[in-house]
Amino acid sequence: MIALTGIGYDIHRFAKPEAQRPLVLGGVTIPYPTGLDGHSDADVLCHAIADAILGAVGDRDIGHHFPNTDESIRGISSLEIVRRSVEIVRGQGARVVNIDATLIAEAPKIGPHLAAMRANLAAVLGVDPKRIGIKATTNECLGALGRREGIAALAVASVTAPE
Ligand SMILES: [Zn+2]
Repeated sequence: MIALTGIGYDIHRFAKPEAQRPLVLGGVTIPYPTGLDGHSDADVLCHAIADAILGAVGDRDIGHHFPNTDESIRGISSLEIVRRSVEIVRGQGARVVNIDATLIAEAPKIGPHLAAMRANLAAVLGVDPKRIGIKATTNECLGALGRREGIAALAVASVTAPE
C-alpha cells in the first residue's frame, strides 16, 4: 500500500439574514444569525474535506462531481457529499486514513460543537474520530473573512491505496 495526500480549500459567503439559512459546519447546525450561501447546505468544512479526499486519489473536484446546476442535490446535506466522495475513493481501492482541517472565521465559536462535528465526519469517512482534526482560527479581522462576510476551510486528507 502507498500513502497519498490531498488538499482541499473552500469558502462561502454568509447569506443575508432574511434568507433564514441555517449555519451548518461539519454537519452540525450552529446557532448564528445567518448561514452560508450555497446550492447545498453550504457546509464549507465538508466541502474542503471532500475535495481533499478526492484530490488524494487524483480525482476531479466536488464542483465536477456535485455541480450547482444539479437540481437533485439542491439543499443536500454536505455530509452526503462527503459520503459519496468516500465511495468514489473506495471505488479506486483507496481507504481514508485521517483528515486534518482548519476553519477560518471570526465567529461563531466552534469549540462547543467540535465533538459533534468529529462524530458526524467519522461516521461518513469510516474512520475513528481521533483520526479527524478540526481546528478554528480567526483571520485577525483582516479582509473579507475578518469582516465576517463568510467562512473558509482548509483540509488535508491521507488515504492508502494499492501500489
Ligand atoms: Zn463549498
